[in-house]
Amino acid sequence: MPPTFKPLVFSGVQPTGNLHLGNYLGAITKFVALQQKYDCIYCVVDMHAITVWQDPKELRNTTREVTAAFLACGIDPKKHIVFNQSQVAEHAELAWVFNCVARLGWLNRMTQFKEKAGKDRENASVGLYAYPNLMAADILVYRATHVPVGEDQKQHLELSRDIAQKFNNDFSESIREHGFGDAFFPLPDPLIQGPATRVMSLRDGTRKMSKSEPSDQSRVNLTDDADAIAQKIRKAKTDPEPLPSEEKGLESRPEADNLVGIYAALADVSKADVLKQFGNAQFSTFKPALADLLVAKLSPITAEMRRLKDDTAYIDSVLADGSARARAIASQTMKAVKDIVGFVHA
Ligand code: ATP
Ligand code: MG
Repeated sequence: MPPTFKPLVFSGVQPTGNLHLGNYLGAITKFVALQQKYDCIYCVVDMHAITVWQDPKELRNTTREVTAAFLACGIDPKKHIVFNQSQVAEHAELAWVFNCVARLGWLNRMTQFKEKAGKDRENASVGLYAYPNLMAADILVYRATHVPVGEDQKQHLELSRDIAQKFNNDFSESIREHGFGDAFFPLPDPLIQGPATRVMSLRDGTRKMSKSEPSDQSRVNLTDDADAIAQKIRKAKTDPEPLPSEEKGLESRPEADNLVGIYAALADVSKADVLKQFGNAQFSTFKPALADLLVAKLSPITAEMRRLKDDTAYIDSVLADGSARARAIASQTMKAVKDIVGFVHA
């Protein structure tokens, strides 16, 4: 009989720059919806952020900004847990154990490292390489069972499952001896659903929209005002054909597919429904409708983010409270891990 674990949601967002529509549709809207059914832990993963250089002042700002975005989008920090990773040292502690469980061969297959390290791989930080082990620790230090993420994180989630499984196997005898039955860690399930699990750049329909992409024109930021949104959508790359009337017609038209997917996700309908309405329309008709929908959905969030962001004392108190509650869970897991691995402790 496989052991059952209490359902628990964990996910994180890096404070590496401006939050964008991809983060919102691929991750944060899912975080909000899951609060109804599950206990949730949402983390601003500042330790992941420093795997590439971050200016310290900027990092503090962005950490607060991502927290403000969580709250503005409707995450409830009282019913659930919102905190920043570096305040709970157990993430780093468990990550070390996982550094010794994961195999080099596994990490060598990670495409995010290859993309982010680029050509000058020798000069990438060790942290960027070991990032997926820390991500596994983020999830498993709470023994979380469900992880809402965008499509780009699927490979890292699979690695988290491999690490959990190898730990459970390597230490199976000790796990049983300490009363944890057949498995100490759950194999966390990725939740990757809906029409916008991979929002693409507005400049290039084959690249994902990212915070760390240098061109601001490539993304809609949650802090953009109505004029900036309208301008970015007007300039978004497209092809010269009108929109197709069926979804099949979006194949091999990545930019058109992306804009239709964004519309569908915002309106909470399918791509087929969007094409029922806009099939055969020119982009000169579709783009203003998309910009209007974006402004209608994002402007209340942007306004609330601005208001919250200036209240540093409040944001910091949310993070301190969330960290204390997160630490209470994580320290229990770490005690058990120490027993299982054979570390002497008080
Ligand atoms: P960076 O470029 O610094 O990696 P990012 O834009 O990829 O930033 P992350 O903080 O790494 O953002 O990811 C936060 C969450 O947003 C993750 O669940 C990730 O899968 C999701 N996400 C990121 N980009 C997209 C996107 N373009 N479409 C859908 N989901 C996305
Ligand atoms: Mg990313």
